[in-house]
Amino acid sequence: MKGPRTIVIIGGVAGGASAAARLRRLDEQATIILYERGEHVSFANCGLPYHIGGEIEGRDDLLVQTPASLKKRFNLDVLTRHEVLAIDRSRKVVQVMDLNAGRRFEQAYDAIVLSPGAAPLRPPIPGLELPGVYTLRNLADMDAIEARLAAKPQGRALLLGGGFIGLEMAEALRHRGWGVLLAEKGAQVMGPADPEMAALVARELRANGVELMLKADLAQVSAAGDGLVASFGARKEALDLVLVAIGVKPEVSLARAAGLALGERGGIQVDEHMRSSDPAIYAVGDAVEVLDPVTGRMGLVPLAGPANRQGRIAADNLAGIPSAYQGTQGTAIVRVFGLTFAMTGASEKALKAAGKPYEKVYLHPNQHAGYFPGVESLQIKLLFNPNHGAVLGAQIAGQEGVDKRIDVLATAIKAGMSVHDLEELELAYAPPYGSAKDAINFAGFIAANVMDGRMGVFHMEEAAAPGPGQLLLDVRTPREFAQGAIPGAINIPVDELRARMGELPKDKEILAYCRVGLRGYLGTRILAQSGYKVRNLSGGWLTWEAWKESQAA
Ligand code: FAD
Repeated sequence: MKGPRTIVIIGGVAGGASAAARLRRLDEQATIILYERGEHVSFANCGLPYHIGGEIEGRDDLLVQTPASLKKRFNLDVLTRHEVLAIDRSRKVVQVMDLNAGRRFEQAYDAIVLSPGAAPLRPPIPGLELPGVYTLRNLADMDAIEARLAAKPQGRALLLGGGFIGLEMAEALRHRGWGVLLAEKGAQVMGPADPEMAALVARELRANGVELMLKADLAQVSAAGDGLVASFGARKEALDLVLVAIGVKPEVSLARAAGLALGERGGIQVDEHMRSSDPAIYAVGDAVEVLDPVTGRMGLVPLAGPANRQGRIAADNLAGIPSAYQGTQGTAIVRVFGLTFAMTGASEKALKAAGKPYEKVYLHPNQHAGYFPGVESLQIKLLFNPNHGAVLGAQIAGQEGVDKRIDVLATAIKAGMSVHDLEELELAYAPPYGSAKDAINFAGFIAANVMDGRMGVFHMEEAAAPGPGQLLLDVRTPREFAQGAIPGAINIPVDELRARMGELPKDKEILAYCRVGLRGYLGTRILAQSGYKVRNLSGGWLTWEAWKESQAA
């Protein structure tokens, strides 16, 4: 075996820095050279919006490591402001540009870990090149935005795009006292989520003073004095800053020029060991295509957790440990003012697009014991396989306790657990934290009732357009009914149902609903045992309202 190897790492943030550090822990002998085009390595890109919002006060707190600290702790040769221009696979050298010195040189390698990330998309809309229009990927971008904010303490910003960065920046800018117009081209914010769940995020944005424009079609941005004007058809908006946050595209130019195989979605193709089509080159992070283990489809999922784990796996394989990446299920979470929104696994629309069988339930359990102060409800959507009950995906909105519930469900999906397993999970409980029957247990109970035929459910589309052989039955109190009901429904409160069920026709299917689904379930059990054909609206009135909002958009 030949002597110490030279491993070149391209890109020094999430995937690249993880690969470098792990490799050193496994191999003291290798020469590990890390090239980073930007000023900084291993910085907290996920923390950038929180510094702008003022929550992370010190800019230096975002600098997790420096070239000097990486040299000292891991003996890594870290060169910032060094861009790798080309990979010559036949000679096994990379061409590097020292951006400070303006000097070009070659570096030989035995293996490469390519972690160049993804670049913010900039659509070809006139005016997006003007001063005052930004994207947010690194500290330099953040500093530029910060300078604009400092120059005008109370301005108005246009955020283009309602994804994670747009949402986090909406909150950050409102904290800074700025007005925010969030313009999203689609009919919902949070593109990967299902529309009726994303409607909860839209509601929170509006409640916190964000002007939300859905199906927005930005035609042009133009300069106006020291500000900007954005034109959406005839509608003109005066602004002081525009942030383009419509998504990212994998940085594949280096890989493409080197002749590495790209996948169907335009990312670098890798095998389960994160090896590209050249066995000496590994690729990780936002630039690679990953398998969605739930739908079986390939996708681009730009998230920090996967990038870090993939970096570690590439390093393992370079050190002779055959670790394998098992796919990205898209577990993600975002805070939008007082609301936390999280998702894992497949959404309903992803399951539909993949042609996978699924059933869904909605529920609104408390985050902790109902009698403990500060009780709030979680809004959960759970997707599962109707045949064997495997958990396929979940989306949760709420305040406290969203993070732990989504992580339990993410674990359940990874472990191949079914809704019956959720019923049986023994989860930590004391009144400030949960309930003796946790929200996750409830999700399992409800889904298992549906799967095993103890509770037939129907969903919003059916509630909006019942057939001639169906009757909508609202089992809430007359007061709740008077405050708003699904059109066409009649009202018999659940507590009067045993006495008044004679008012219901036996030749029609009863579509029952209540506020969250529980009284509706009780009503269906009462009616079904008296020979009625009956189903319950999953999620009840609360989900109906969110669904209506998503339809209005
Ligand atoms: P990056 O971390 O982007 O690193 C790639 C690096 O490679 C870049 O610094 C680039 O300069 C360098 N590079 C590229 N080409 C070359 C070259 N030819 N030569 C030398 N260097 C090169 N994810 C989450 O999971 N949760 C979050 O809360 C979250 N928040 C985010 C907030 C913001 C503002 C941003 C921008 C991203 C956020 N992400 C979040 C996404 C997460 O940061 C990325 O998924 C992750 O950083 C990807 O890691 P990576 O190594 O693939 O790419």
